[in-house]
Amino acid sequence: MRLSQYFMPILRDDPKEAEIVSHKLMLRAGMVRQEAAGNYSWLPMGFRVLKKIEQIVREEQDRAGALEVLMPTIQPAELWKKSGRYDAYGKEMLRIKDRHDREMLYGPTNEEMITDIFRQGVQSYKDLPRNLYHIQWKFRDEVRPRFGVMRGREFLMKDAYSFDVSREAGQHSYNKMFVSYLRTFARLGLKAVPMRAETGPIGGSDSHEFLVLADTGESGVFFDGDFHEMDWGKVEVDYDDAGAVAKLVERFTSKYAATDEKHDAAEFERRVPAAKRMTGRGIEVGHIFFFGTKYSEPLGCEVQGADGKKVAVQSGSYGIGVSRLVGGIIEASHDDAGIIWPEAVAPFQVGLINLKVGDAASDEACLKIYQALQAKGVDVLFDDKDGGAGGKFAAMDLIGLPWQVIIGPRGLKDGIAEVKCRKTGARENVALDQVVGRFTA
Ligand code: ATP
Ligand code: MG
Repeated sequence: MRLSQYFMPILRDDPKEAEIVSHKLMLRAGMVRQEAAGNYSWLPMGFRVLKKIEQIVREEQDRAGALEVLMPTIQPAELWKKSGRYDAYGKEMLRIKDRHDREMLYGPTNEEMITDIFRQGVQSYKDLPRNLYHIQWKFRDEVRPRFGVMRGREFLMKDAYSFDVSREAGQHSYNKMFVSYLRTFARLGLKAVPMRAETGPIGGSDSHEFLVLADTGESGVFFDGDFHEMDWGKVEVDYDDAGAVAKLVERFTSKYAATDEKHDAAEFERRVPAAKRMTGRGIEVGHIFFFGTKYSEPLGCEVQGADGKKVAVQSGSYGIGVSRLVGGIIEASHDDAGIIWPEAVAPFQVGLINLKVGDAASDEACLKIYQALQAKGVDVLFDDKDGGAGGKFAAMDLIGLPWQVIIGPRGLKDGIAEVKCRKTGARENVALDQVVGRFTA
């Protein structure tokens, strides 16, 4: 992509409305634009990141055996009246009437609808287990939308729903999602600590939240320092092996970690030696619940068991805040100059800077590298705009692409380009004909 043809409305100064760094940087880098409180347009750069995150979430859901569907954003109120949540949900639910005066709502979550879909599609225990998920926009009329996409009103969520014939089978489904979350967040370059959580208005028995540690997080967190030493990158397990999956989950759940809502100071002191007692703040990026028959009973979602008797199915629901993650990743990965994208979610891998547009040798060298990178499938943003070096460097640092390739007349005399790593700041001179190889090896 040529910067001269791109749409990236960069702001020079910090926007006044932004309180936290991710919100500031997302606005400054031209990733999003606010349309109403907690309601954002995703501009090209932001949208690329959102899609990359979404794809990693999808791949790990699929790997864990979940099946992707897509339910509508608008739901009929009827289903929610059956579950009893139409009134319980209160003002957070955006209620709408259609032209026939039928009550509708913009879905804040999908337990009711998916349970109804499942009820119509299965009869026997042989149809279980199943896990269905979608990645869809939600609306919650939050009292205090803030921090940009972190607490929006319209936001993108991955929500999965498991259906099992027994509690034990349901536990295995829960555990599989637990593991898939560990894998997902590790791939996103995040350490998201699983913590015991309150089940909240969705209700249920077992529940964990996954929190990214950051000073600007909304939750207070208390955890065992051992989490810092855990090998997050190595979460490999055969999902069909219930015992192995349970053991892996146990490795994480056996250590003390709780959000302020569930924190028990006495237990913390008893279980964690003083030197390892960590406290701080965290951003909730995922939340999993096991709630048994809470929705299947009122909605009549039952199957015929092996003994011929009807049983209500056992369910759980599993959310990931896909759009919140864009802000969460920035909170965890930035410096004074701007964003530092982890490679896996970077909008482009390489930013190619032409320091002297109009200089024939510079133009030619840049074009050659640009075309060669594209031919090799490397996502590259080519700054081919006329402008001073200082502004170009600042913009490239702000948008945080993992690598910069800097080309100008001075280096070209010696046949070299400068390659800069955004994360470490390390710069290296690389022969022109070696540049492309650096990103394709
Ligand atoms: P919170 O405690 O932050 O209000 P929640 O417990 O209401 O979240 P869940 O129903 O568990 O949220 O939703 C699943 C995930 O969706 C959350 O873990 C979070 O990452 C994301 N999420 C929830 N509310 C918002 C929001 N207003 N804006 C952006 N993401 C959100
Ligand atoms: Mg939650």
